[in-house]
Amino acid sequence: MKKIALEEHYISPDFMKYTQADFNAMNKQASDGFIAKLLDFDEQRIQEMDKAGIGTSVLSLTDPGVQKEPDTNVAIQLAQKANDFLAEKISKNSKRYKGFAHLPLQDPKAAAKELERCVRQHHFVGALINGQTNGKYLDENEYLLLWEKVQELDVTIYLHPGSPYETPYNLDGYPELEGPLWGWTSETATHALRLIFSGLFDRFPNIKLILGHMGESLPYLAWRLDSRWGIIKHSKNLKKLPSQYLKQNIFVTTSGMCSNGPLLCALSELGEDNVMFSVDYPYESSEVAAQFIQKAPITEKVREKICYQNAKRILKL
Ligand code: MN
Repeated sequence: MKKIALEEHYISPDFMKYTQADFNAMNKQASDGFIAKLLDFDEQRIQEMDKAGIGTSVLSLTDPGVQKEPDTNVAIQLAQKANDFLAEKISKNSKRYKGFAHLPLQDPKAAAKELERCVRQHHFVGALINGQTNGKYLDENEYLLLWEKVQELDVTIYLHPGSPYETPYNLDGYPELEGPLWGWTSETATHALRLIFSGLFDRFPNIKLILGHMGESLPYLAWRLDSRWGIIKHSKNLKKLPSQYLKQNIFVTTSGMCSNGPLLCALSELGEDNVMFSVDYPYESSEVAAQFIQKAPITEKVREKICYQNAKRILKL
């Protein structure tokens, strides 16, 4: 079955310095392999897409990009450079590639402007954001103008994992828990919950937020969010139950989560229109991801929605 994949990463030489720490944490064979695949837009990437039946990949700069840059002006310039670089690569193969913008979130106004430029000039489908930026989360007031722009342009934001600003005390002594195994899940789920509980989706009811990794554990927690929210003394006012924002504003992908239990949970809690196929290339195997969704115990109608129909509708491809 043909597929659209939307958590698929690249890098350009300018950004190696920001990702170096992540590569250093891997063995050399793994990091060399990832770097070669991240830099490639031609043979290997297309070959792997073909083998997995992926017709279109929505590409994004790998974590963290300029979101770790301390100098705001450098971040603004380099984000533009990344987006122009990606647009040029897409233009050479626009049938197979689409793009998510990379934003200089150190300056919310510049980020909104860059998003608009990328959508209008480069026809990108939204932006992929790698978690917090120098300690700032997207629910903070200064980002309201970015969300206004997101709603006006009617594009999606993919909230991708990134590291927390500081290593949490409770992970001390367990480096294996800091990254993709657990730390990023907890950090990204918390970021999404901050957006829900800040009332962002009451203000901007049409915003579509995408989470990878089958929703970073949130579909599993939907009932409990409602039940415990009701008893907290200082809860902020919300127009709906927390789980209703999960169902209406949040969409999830299967990136890096090739397991039937979480898939069935996401379908049951969020609905069959809210789940989309993705790989997390090159960090996960396109072949494993494709086989997983092809064999998953769901109807062919639901499989089609997950593989491409939902992404086509949500990203307006
Ligand atoms: Mn990823």
